[in-house]
Amino acid sequence: MHTVSGISVSGGIAAGPLRVWKRTETRLSRVSRLAPGQERARFEAACKTAGSQLEGLYRQVLAEAGKDSAAIFEIHRMMLEDEDYLEAVMSVLETQGATAEYAAQEAGRQLSAAFSAMNSEYMQARAADVTDISRRVIRILTGQGGAAALGDRPVILAAGELTPSELVRLDRSRLLGFLTRCGSAASHTAILARTMNIPALTGVDFDEDWDGRTAVLDGCGGRLYLDPDRGLLAAMEEKRQGLLRDRALLQGLRDLPSVTLDGREIQICANIGGPADAALALENGAQGVGLFRSEFLYLNAEKCPGEEEQLAAYRQAVRAMAGRRVVIRTLDAGADKRADCLCLEREENPALGLRAIRLCLERKELFRTQLRAILRAAAFGPVSILFPMIASLWEVREARALLEDCRSELQAEGAAPGGVRLGVMIETPAAVMIAGELAQEVDFFSIGTNDLTQYTLAADRQDPRLERFRDPRHPAVLRMIGYTVEAGHRHGCRVAICGGLAADRSLTEAFLRMGVDELSVPPSDILPLRRLVRGLDLRGEQTPGECPVRSLNGADFQGIF
Ligand code: PEP
Ligand code: MG
Repeated sequence: MHTVSGISVSGGIAAGPLRVWKRTETRLSRVSRLAPGQERARFEAACKTAGSQLEGLYRQVLAEAGKDSAAIFEIHRMMLEDEDYLEAVMSVLETQGATAEYAAQEAGRQLSAAFSAMNSEYMQARAADVTDISRRVIRILTGQGGAAALGDRPVILAAGELTPSELVRLDRSRLLGFLTRCGSAASHTAILARTMNIPALTGVDFDEDWDGRTAVLDGCGGRLYLDPDRGLLAAMEEKRQGLLRDRALLQGLRDLPSVTLDGREIQICANIGGPADAALALENGAQGVGLFRSEFLYLNAEKCPGEEEQLAAYRQAVRAMAGRRVVIRTLDAGADKRADCLCLEREENPALGLRAIRLCLERKELFRTQLRAILRAAAFGPVSILFPMIASLWEVREARALLEDCRSELQAEGAAPGGVRLGVMIETPAAVMIAGELAQEVDFFSIGTNDLTQYTLAADRQDPRLERFRDPRHPAVLRMIGYTVEAGHRHGCRVAICGGLAADRSLTEAFLRMGVDELSVPPSDILPLRRLVRGLDLRGEQTPGECPVRSLNGADFQGIF
């Protein structure tokens, strides 16, 4: 037996024959006998065909794996229209009198090399996307090259690299798992593999003559075993059965309440960035949307979304959640969330600048448009409004006065605004310290631990050098959460956590013991969290062994609450 390490891309275990795929690189003729204008027309026609193929793939993956996975094909379609790419192709066509396929290959190589040289893992992963679209155009132009042939029995595919469109074209019924020599866990191929539950590794240095030999791929453990012995096969089969049982068990929790063994119930809701994510939230058993980050509607927009556009987005989410509450956070722009359409001024310290509620109170027309849209959406189901980055009482009062003004205005116009519950984000130390007063103004708090950590520890959340200084489990942050819950409850105010710490399962018991009413987390964290909650028993003392509350730096904080 031979063991090789790799980078885990997608969990799960696959066992079967290895199929080494050698992509047949077609030799392309370089010099064209046609005029550049004719090659240009060939290239444009191929791009058009590629665009329709990508649209088809988008629809297919959308139906099979959801919007997040399908998005890559929309990105590829847009890359086909990218000016840098088109300019590079045209330049090769015109300066070298080249064929369209040769020009597409050259332009793909140039851009891919530029992405690979960038100092960001994300941008490096985009090199594969450029290669993927160039290959597609070349395939259309030459009519050669295609999907990896998997043969007639299920295999583990080994490839030098695998692009997202190559992956989706593979016959799923014959693909047990795959490994690649090049790639990264941040690539779109990796994202697709995770969504489609295909065990996968990257960074595996395989040999081409391993083709046909039996292998076990452990996507969780980051290992490939070649010619496994009986003992390993048995151990891996047991592990695989365990993982399958686990996935099925989690699905079984979808419609169950998040209640501890001693009867304490908590709501587990989803954080979403747009109305299309509501489906994912429901698939994962969300009891509501605890945080709709409305700024995402502005981030990619050429102009600020108007009232009707926003109403359509909020109404879509509210309808999709079918009676479950949707908490819409008002525009939290500024700092790292810069939307071109807002024309924000450059600031020395943007995290401490004109962001979130401050921006909305300074630009009231912008705020009113959003408030009117939310009030109208509230006529279609239960909606709450959440004001971000509150530091002072007067901010809440001014925002609420505007909200009431918008309500009267809508009523005067004959529209029927719905009722809303009002909440504030607790994400500044100032808001924690005045939580008692704030609780008398609103119906609920939602603790944003990402910003609360940044502002409490004075550590910029964007700066990767500060990782070890920016400890969200710092006792100061945990004490602030405890204090906020206590102050909120004293005045009948519900308390949720919607920042990243809500999904930290080492703290779930502590949060429940503090009395937190709701945890709002990314959809994929909902079911594992629900399972944990349903296994907890809060009777008796919390012991360090049962629920270690540790800071990132290892110190123990038992008993700080
Ligand atoms: C937070 O700060 O914890 C939060 C949920 O808001 P965002 O991450 O969008 O700033
Ligand atoms: Mg925040």
